[in-house]
Formats: sequence, structure tokens, C-alpha cells
Amino acid sequence: MDYHILVNKNNPLPRAHIPNDLIDVGSKYKEGIKLNTKVKESFDMLKEEALKKGYYIDIESGYRDYDYQEKIYNRLAAEKGFSYAITRIAEPGKSEHQTALALDFCIYRDEKCYIENEIEDFEETQWVHENAHKYGFILRYPEGKEDITKYSYEPWHLRYIGSLAEYLYNNNLTLEEYYQEKEKIS
Ligand SMILES: [Zn+2]
Repeated sequence: MDYHILVNKNNPLPRAHIPNDLIDVGSKYKEGIKLNTKVKESFDMLKEEALKKGYYIDIESGYRDYDYQEKIYNRLAAEKGFSYAITRIAEPGKSEHQTALALDFCIYRDEKCYIENEIEDFEETQWVHENAHKYGFILRYPEGKEDITKYSYEPWHLRYIGSLAEYLYNNNLTLEEYYQEKEKIS
């Protein structure tokens, strides 16, 4: 498994890219969410650490296959038009969720679950952003890097990259910038 794989609008995955080593994450939010085993285990550690602070985080979206992405993309495009859909949802093959290395986390407060933009200003979210790298995760679409990632700020979307996360976090780099840097050196 290549934990550093770059998937974005210029680097799509083929339909046939189906990761092995998938495991059910046991999310309280929704049944049947799957991720790469190592990613699930790492998130569990992050979740445990968060619990010590009294923060309850969980997973609301994990692995999505090509066909599913195609379905939700086409549905939105049919409803709101192509130009709207393209800014909101990745086209099939261009979603990191197809790698099983990306997840969307949610936050529980008093049994109510908050997702996506709702969690933007939560202290739990800030804590996750400042600690996820210790467990191999980066905030994949940070604020202020929209021109580079080609995605709006997504405070809920984490990507597992293993020990490289520490380096990217400390140098305030996106995965795109990391690959650009690497190319310059070689
Ligand atoms: Zn996501």
C-alpha cells in the first residue's frame, strides 16, 4: 500500500482501483463505513487521545468506490448543473476517498452528531487539526491553500500518509506542494 499516493483533479484513479485490506471502522454515525486497516487503527488512537480531553470524534465517511462517486456526482450535476457539481464533489476517480486512506470526521456533543461545515469553529476540530499529524494524518484541504489543492477549505477531511504527516505539518505543506518540492530536488 502506497500511503503517499497523490490523488487529485490532475491525478485520477482508474475505476479498477479497488484497495484491499479494507476493514469496517465501527462508526457510531453510520454502519458499513470502511477504511484501510492501518488508517482505521491510527484513527482509533487519535480518537482515544481526543477522549482524554473529553472530545468525542467519529467517522462519517470513509472509503467510497468509483461507482458510488460517479452516482453522487451525476446526481448533483443533474440537480444543480455541471459547473456547480464540479466545485462541490470530486468527479469519479478524482476523490481521495477511493484510496481508503481518507476520511471525514464528525463530532459528538450530547449525543448529537455534527458534520462538515458545522464543526468549523469547534474546539474539538482545532484540537484534531493540531494533533492528527502525530497519528499520521494531515488536514488535506486547509484554509489558504485552495489555489494549490483546488478544493475549498474542508475542516473535516483527513488523509492518512503515515510518518510523512509530521514533516508536512511542521512545514505547513500540502501533499501537492510536497510533490512539487520533491520534483525540484530530483
Ligand atoms: Zn472527505
